[in-house]
Amino acid sequence: MFKKNKVWLSSPHLNGSEINYIQEAFADNWVSPYGDNIEAFESQLEAYFDVPDVALVNSGTAAIHLALVLSDVKQGDEVIVPALNFAGCVNPILYQKATPLFADSEYDTFNVDPNIVEDILRSRRHSGKMPKAIIAVDLFGIPSQLKQLEYLSEKYGVPLIEDAADAIGSTYKEKPLGTFGKAGIISFNGNKVITTSGGGALISSDAALIARAKYLSNQARKIIPYYQHDTVGYNYMMSNILAGIGRGQMPSLPERVARRREIFDIYKNALEDTGVIEFKKDIPGAVSNRWLSVGLISNTQDNRKVRDELFYRLADKGIESRPVWKPMHQQPAFHSFPFFGGNVAEDLFQRGLCLPSGSNMTEEELQWVVSVTREFLLGHSAAAKTFQKAV
Ligand SMILES: *Cc1c(COP(=O)(O)O)cnc(C)c1O
Repeated sequence: MFKKNKVWLSSPHLNGSEINYIQEAFADNWVSPYGDNIEAFESQLEAYFDVPDVALVNSGTAAIHLALVLSDVKQGDEVIVPALNFAGCVNPILYQKATPLFADSEYDTFNVDPNIVEDILRSRRHSGKMPKAIIAVDLFGIPSQLKQLEYLSEKYGVPLIEDAADAIGSTYKEKPLGTFGKAGIISFNGNKVITTSGGGALISSDAALIARAKYLSNQARKIIPYYQHDTVGYNYMMSNILAGIGRGQMPSLPERVARRREIFDIYKNALEDTGVIEFKKDIPGAVSNRWLSVGLISNTQDNRKVRDELFYRLADKGIESRPVWKPMHQQPAFHSFPFFGGNVAEDLFQRGLCLPSGSNMTEEELQWVVSVTREFLLGHSAAAKTFQKAV
């Protein structure tokens, strides 16, 4: 049995309307990947992203895979991708037998440092073979330096794919995340800001690209009287039942984002004055959906150790937290691939902790997390002062 009365990092937040759409799908017997829920959810997303069409698929990972296939990424090609990342963004590069080039982060956004991306592009132009794609990731819902990355994509002629899996509801320069570059992807996994239980979408203003994605996600099946396959396809379509969850969730998006942003501000205001934790503000022009609130332990004698102790203290109290993702170039599955940069991603992994951020947390739960965390940090705050005096 799953434990109850636990404060989760980010759990699904249903509004009650979802079940009606699922019931309709059952009543009409549209329990396949076709039906009203698919069409309605697509329309909602098209309106939100202001695009002519979107492709609903069964995971964010599948959407990334399709974006790579549609960028003609194949064996022997290279793809620039952030090192501080989730494996779901990197695995599809390997499905294509291509090589990820891991790029380090910058402190302001935790996301890929555009200067490092440009270093890689320059060196590849020099050696004569350009990467096939750049993937920008808006990790934790925080907008990347998307304008700079779009500029580099144009300057070097390498398509930009935006992994906005975490970032529905975030904006940069007033544009929704997921709409930068050639194509963007969203995840509707159960832990994200809105969910279909599991699912994803490919977003692009290029209607032909989306049409092609839909074709590939349906086993590359041409509907003439018999099935004709001119290329390799995938079974990646979203079910009409799950689209019903998304259809019910979508109207709640603004409230969900507002609440997550409020939770971030509450942590920042209640904890930063301890002097040993830092919450990075949005960069100018960016509005993060604050999918996860990330605190960076700072100014202690051993930030990594303090971070780990805080993780275990919270766990003892029934509170789920999670260290910032371990960089991909340090993962056994990926460590043989090239890494470019310094130790920013590594440092963020050592010091960063994602605190419970679910929009369905009660006020009591949130205050409980704040008080446990604050008490713990104050202990280290005193220690930090003696440490600073000593050095
Ligand atoms: C969640 C996530 C994915 C994968 O999405 P799924 O829907 O779980 O397949 C990809 N990239 C990032 C950054 C994510 O956080």
